[in-house]
Amino acid sequence: MSKKIVHLDSLQFNVAGLLTGPKGGTRSYDLYIPVSELDQLDEGFDVVAPFQGTARFLWTKDHIMAVVTGQTTVTLQCSRCLEPFHHTVHVQIEEAFIPTVDMASGLPIARDETDIAILIDEHHILDLSEILRQSILLALPLTPVCSPECQGLCPTCGANRNREVCTCTTEAIDPRWSALRMLLDNLDTDPDHPNP
Ligand SMILES: [Zn+2]
Ligand SMILES: [Zn+2]
Repeated sequence: MSKKIVHLDSLQFNVAGLLTGPKGGTRSYDLYIPVSELDQLDEGFDVVAPFQGTARFLWTKDHIMAVVTGQTTVTLQCSRCLEPFHHTVHVQIEEAFIPTVDMASGLPIARDETDIAILIDEHHILDLSEILRQSILLALPLTPVCSPECQGLCPTCGANRNREVCTCTTEAIDPRWSALRMLLDNLDTDPDHPNP
């Protein structure tokens, strides 16, 4: 059993060595997947940084349990101000990959499994691409915001309130209104005993 960490820049792993080895065999990898490879995964996200993390495989004689953790960065559009921003995506994958060829006989193993993403192909390649694609999609926020403090766009003139103060907002903060507000608040102080 090797303890050596191998650095990899691909999402395809030849696991023939694991599959022919004893139950309990493991492989560990440091992952550094370049943007060029991540970009091809899905048109739904725009990756701007390599995926950096680790992959660990455990052979159980029935399947290879893959545990992958890491992170990458994607560009998202803020739902409030509509500006693009960088968002770090943390991925944690635990998935059982199953072989389709019996290593001893070289014969195909009949599988009912319809999810081809988790099948190890006839060349003993375990491919993390599809599982990683799904994990990144799932990790994306439903309502992306560039910052919790994002002020969004002015509904009246469309100005980006993070960058400019438009005239539409001055009315709401007019000091004369706050004076009136205080007056109204004082009238409301005893609502249970209103004057007849
Ligand atoms: Zn924003
Ligand atoms: Zn405005």
